[in-house]
Amino acid sequence: MQNFINLERIEPRKRGSNQRKKDYNEIYEIFKTTEASSQSERCVQCGDPYCNSGCPLHNYIPFWLRATAKKDYELAFRLSNETNPFPEITGRICPQDRLCEGACTLQRDGYEAITIGSIETYISEYGFNKGLKPEFSKLTTNKRVAIVGSGPAGISCATFLLRAGIGVDMFEKANRAGGLLTYGIPNFKLDKEVVFRRFEWLKEAGMNLYLNSEVGKDIEFKKLLKEYDAIFIAIGAEQSKKINMANEDSDGVFLAIDFLKNIQRKYFNEEYDKRYHVANKRVVVVGGGDTAMDCIRTALREGASSVKCLYRRDLANMPGSKKEYKNALEEGADFVYLSSPKEILIDKDSKVVGLKMQKTKLSKKDESGRQRVEIVEGSDFIIETDIIIFALGFDVKKVDFLEQNGIKTNKWNEILADENRQSSQKLVFTGGDCFRGSDLAVNAASDGKIAAESIIDQLL
Ligand SMILES: Cc1cc2nc3c(=O)[nH]c(=O)nc-3n(C[C@H](O)[C@H](O)[C@H](O)COP(=O)(O)OP(=O)(O)OC[C@H]3O[C@@H](n4cnc5c(N)ncnc54)[C@H](O)[C@@H]3O)c2cc1C
Ligand code: SF4
Repeated sequence: MQNFINLERIEPRKRGSNQRKKDYNEIYEIFKTTEASSQSERCVQCGDPYCNSGCPLHNYIPFWLRATAKKDYELAFRLSNETNPFPEITGRICPQDRLCEGACTLQRDGYEAITIGSIETYISEYGFNKGLKPEFSKLTTNKRVAIVGSGPAGISCATFLLRAGIGVDMFEKANRAGGLLTYGIPNFKLDKEVVFRRFEWLKEAGMNLYLNSEVGKDIEFKKLLKEYDAIFIAIGAEQSKKINMANEDSDGVFLAIDFLKNIQRKYFNEEYDKRYHVANKRVVVVGGGDTAMDCIRTALREGASSVKCLYRRDLANMPGSKKEYKNALEEGADFVYLSSPKEILIDKDSKVVGLKMQKTKLSKKDESGRQRVEIVEGSDFIIETDIIIFALGFDVKKVDFLEQNGIKTNKWNEILADENRQSSQKLVFTGGDCFRGSDLAVNAASDGKIAAESIIDQLL
């Protein structure tokens, strides 16, 4: 261990940008065994590991790094799967630079952080290839919990309940499970088979998964209250933020999630809306977060003739992960900073022909610590385009069955809950994006785990 002076951090190999743009396969290779163990040897094994606090799941990172360095991959697999409901997924999609790796002692001391995420993915994939599986106990109790929503919060809650021997029925309104892991995050970041594999294990462990089952429409929430010992609500934040600008419903104006979902449906050979074809079209994406990068990289794979990202702040203030920005740049996106949309320009058939923009400048910091954006008067300019995709974030949708059943929400429709993720209704718990607002898969997983622990405390 502590080999960080002799050994540099390496990243997993990436497919070349020209090649990877031709398909939706994941772009990163998984570490080779020698790479995973030698990279793990760089770990300092600090007594009070900051990486552990940087990880929302408080994974036993130094423990599984030490096991990997000692080539005890089975132990590493078990340790990693103990605290994390899907390490092979978080290893692929967590913004590690902001979480575990950002907190790594080496990084703080001016060295390069351990490649924690890539090693985490390696450990799981190595284990699966050797026939290891996440461990579950048999259903040892007569308790049953209903989980509403099959995204990361739902998967996590189900995992920890099943491990405690509690039965789970999961209700999902879509025709495939996984929430945004399936219909939001593109396949080039997270292969969908990786997501579906987890559901097979949950079903083997005794979970019943009911697809095409919308609670509040196909199933009454009251029925769940009557029939289950507890309920976990994890219905996500599904409503794309709109820009509220004239012509926003015109032909050629898309919201990010509609675009991504339809392309994913096309990829699944499901019925999808052909309006979202962007081949040979000029595309602009408004927004600077990870969803914007996903739209850009999807549009490039769909054969758009050009893709521009328009962002009202500068590169240093872009909210998304730098890794995803770099991938988008390598794949051919252009970036226009310090510019804000003013008017959607359409032709006589109500088809988009351009976007009138205005220059911006950054001024004093606001309460959140970010610099305010000011419009530069008289700085209008036009970007000609066929397609505009707005990637401005998500809100929680107002859901009638919550209020009707005494479950309190705030003014943003987020479900209110205490630190145990218990809502204002006894034995109704919540977590993920519908509780905290649009966020990260690992935070949804952490909520699901906390809620499962609270449910276990109350039921057993
Ligand atoms: C394009 C995009 C890219 C992202 N990239 C990343 C990333 O790289 N890394 C990262 O950590 N996070 C990323 N995120 C965020 C992450 O996906 C979410 O924070 C996470 O999925 C939230 O999990 P959840 O379980 O709360 O909700 P969701 O994943 O939204 O799942 C909610 C589920 O509930 C279902 N549902 C809703 N209402 C009902 C009902 N009434 N009855 C039954 N089912 C219902 C929905 O159909 C859905 O399947 C991304 C998000 C998007 C949109
Ligand atoms: S779950 Fe995410 S934050 Fe935690 S160790 Fe894994 S990659 Fe890092």
